[in-house]
Amino acid sequence: MPIRTRFAPSPTGRLHLGHALAARVAHNLARSADDGRFLLRFEDIDAPRVRREFYQGIEEDLQWLNLPWDEEPLRQTNRSAAYEAALNTLRQKKLIYPCFCTRREIQEEWAAMSGAPQGPEGPIYPGTCLRLSESERKEKIAAGIPHAWRLDSHKAATITGPLTFHDLRFGTIGVNHALLGDVILARKDIGPAYHLAVVVDDAFQEITHVTRGEDLLPSTHVHRLLQSLLDIPEPVYLHHELMLDEHGKRLAKRCDSLSIAALRDAGCNPNEILARTDSKSFKCP
Ligand code: GLU
Repeated sequence: MPIRTRFAPSPTGRLHLGHALAARVAHNLARSADDGRFLLRFEDIDAPRVRREFYQGIEEDLQWLNLPWDEEPLRQTNRSAAYEAALNTLRQKKLIYPCFCTRREIQEEWAAMSGAPQGPEGPIYPGTCLRLSESERKEKIAAGIPHAWRLDSHKAATITGPLTFHDLRFGTIGVNHALLGDVILARKDIGPAYHLAVVVDDAFQEITHVTRGEDLLPSTHVHRLLQSLLDIPEPVYLHHELMLDEHGKRLAKRCDSLSIAALRDAGCNPNEILARTDSKSFKCP
């Protein structure tokens, strides 16, 4: 099967050096094989943060970096029917449950616990709404209380049994369903959310190799679970290193001088920029 990779930025800003690295990794992997394809996907479901001008800005940045994509870019905002269908499948199998908690209620619950369960991204959801009865859920929904939908990760894992995924850098990794806990698959405000959309779209675009920063490695445990539950193919992964600043911290978006557009205006050429992403480290001026 020919290699298919993708670069999936959110049009909430112009590309910066971290994106250039992510795009270069995906692009080079696709170009390393005969018939490889490099695709572009706009992860634009978080509508309040998206700005129209960034679609074109991102395309310009990629073109200028000589990282051309194949095929028409996909926009997640055009894919809501597919996400709803996936959500329905999970709902029918009772693998997701409505969560009525506010952020504040969750924080209060964590504070009241002697030791809130910790995940790599902070404390994990304490399962409050998992314990609601079916009639309590119906009542709350009928009363119009806003709700998100969470994955019942424990139930999901009992159905799928042990799973693994393969990463070209880290090798074969066993899925830990409890790592991120009962993640949100549909948000109160925007509906279907990142974990669900990314899995559905990687399958739709027939991505064979998912490349992305190693900060997303914990998410892959959730994604592998969802692939199994939704009966969709499992890609190979490559979680690459992140661009770091002089303090060894992840390059922050706030450092506007590191946007590709700003570096271009400062006289850098594309090859220089891509070469800088090789060292994975950059001093923020
Ligand atoms: N939209 C995500 C980001 O910009 C990419 C997610 C992914 O590659 O799975 O970090």
